[in-house]
Amino acid sequence: MRYVIALGGNALVGPKSADKVAYEIVRQHALGNQIIITHGNGPQVGELAAAQKRGLAVLTAETQAWIGTVLKEKLNSALLHRGMSPEGVVETVLTEVIVKADDPGFKHPTKPIGPFMSAAEASSARRKGFCTSKLIGGYRRVVPSPEPLEIMQMDAIKYLLGRHRIVIACGGGGIPVARSGKGLKYIDAVIDKDSASSILASAIRADMLFILTNVDGAYLNYTKHNRELISKSTIKALKASMAMGHFEAGSMMPKVKACIDFAESTGKCAGIGSLSHPRDVFSMKRLTLVTP
Ligand code: ADP
Ligand code: MG
Repeated sequence: MRYVIALGGNALVGPKSADKVAYEIVRQHALGNQIIITHGNGPQVGELAAAQKRGLAVLTAETQAWIGTVLKEKLNSALLHRGMSPEGVVETVLTEVIVKADDPGFKHPTKPIGPFMSAAEASSARRKGFCTSKLIGGYRRVVPSPEPLEIMQMDAIKYLLGRHRIVIACGGGGIPVARSGKGLKYIDAVIDKDSASSILASAIRADMLFILTNVDGAYLNYTKHNRELISKSTIKALKASMAMGHFEAGSMMPKVKACIDFAESTGKCAGIGSLSHPRDVFSMKRLTLVTP
């Protein structure tokens, strides 16, 4: 089986869950499955943006190298732990993703980056010219998040998969790049990694898309006392829940949309589950399973 496994940038901040997930990914690889890992970069790209004057495309490239290496180190340890040599197993692909330079996302920033802020910190950030948004848990800086259209390094990714490598690609949603005349132009934005993972999973003809984050799955009434985990849902039912506003923009909504898009375009299943229980997610015991 061919799996695309998307790891949450926020959840990756806790080092323990990353160790556990690395171990389970290596286990899936040893069982003969082909693995492509994608990851978010919200907290990390926000940290770099606060310290450096570079555009978000270059900063996303920095986070691909940074998080890719951290993940590789954990995967290498897991390989050793299972008695396998880590040499030549894990490869990170610096990945560019095509977006439209006039995407409507540039007018309405939705992608949270950096840490949570108090109301006072958020108004000070706005005075400096940044956009902020009030989310569950506090305020965060938000940046434009254009829709990913095409992954530029598909050949490299396919080649490495064919050589039985564990491939890390599309980190931070990919480095945003737009076609401009005959050339390419880097774009100041952060693509949502869930959307990018979905188009990658469809393009690579994955058998399953897993999105691992810091909750057990998508909930109905998430912020209310009667919240309820969706354990299994069809595309149609999930679309209805989405229309009723159950999933927050910029966090759970892109995951739900990614699963719907993948299931719709491939006829395969997708799942959202916790980074703390990766084995239960991969064995389909504890997750939100989206079926066509
Ligand atoms: P990641 O870094 O994994 O992409 P996000 O913070 O973007 O993580 O998304 C996960 C978060 O989505 C959860 O921590 C939760 O606060 C939020 N969330 C919003 N709506 C829902 C919902 N309906 N069900 C579950 N989580 C939700
Ligand atoms: Mg997210």
